[in-house]
Amino acid sequence: MEEMVISAITKGFNILGFTSHAPFPNEESWTMNPESVDLYFHEFYRLKEKYFNDITLYVGLEIDYIPGIGFTDENKKLLPRLDYYIGSVHSLGTVDGNKYYFVDDTPESFSEGISILFENNVQKAVETYYKNIMSLAEIYKPDIIGHIDIIKKNNKNNKFFNENDDWYINAVQKCLKIIKENDCIVELNTGGIIRYGKECMYPSDLILKECKKNNIKVTVNSDAHSVDGMNYHFDEVEKLLLETGYNYIYILSNGNWIKKEIG
Ligand SMILES: [Zn+2]
Repeated sequence: MEEMVISAITKGFNILGFTSHAPFPNEESWTMNPESVDLYFHEFYRLKEKYFNDITLYVGLEIDYIPGIGFTDENKKLLPRLDYYIGSVHSLGTVDGNKYYFVDDTPESFSEGISILFENNVQKAVETYYKNIMSLAEIYKPDIIGHIDIIKKNNKNNKFFNENDDWYINAVQKCLKIIKENDCIVELNTGGIIRYGKECMYPSDLILKECKKNNIKVTVNSDAHSVDGMNYHFDEVEKLLLETGYNYIYILSNGNWIKKEIG
């Protein structure tokens, strides 16, 4: 965490938020284990104080909406300790609570999940993913909806579905309507591009345009897993936003999400 803070200061950030991944029922390689949660807050407050004069730090989490469960009780208890949080859906579901399938796992595992949980019906799997995001927005109203179309991570060259199909666009539009009603912010997430290539910019151009039509609030997040990616692609994203008609993003300032002009 300290490495990230120092890098942010060097790169000229005024504000930095941490959103490590909250614990998941079955500990996954990419989630914090429950024992680390207190350490996370402890280290955060040490850094906040140490670098007080150089940068404003906010503490958050990325919390999974688990199909059929929502947030775990343990994660719900953490909400009051956060400055903000990202709500995400990574899971396609589980058969028996032991093994979860994830939308952003390997293509083989994604395919297996669709086969086992949705009888190989890709459309049903994708529509269910967006329905879960709708429930996430409706029930919990997270500040930010994480990487809204990460379901396309394994979909290079339309391997699993076609993002221009009417059913897909319908599913997205219904989802955005609920996001708007619940006043959540959609993030432009550049973490996928640095890790998996330009097709993994979240959201797609099409969805970003739909966001603009609905006047949905947006922000920019590098979803950085290391110091290298902290401001990855930010200039390009600013251009993209301006081209789409957004001349502002939302940023957190003293507990409120406020408009910040760009360009
Ligand atoms: Zn995520």
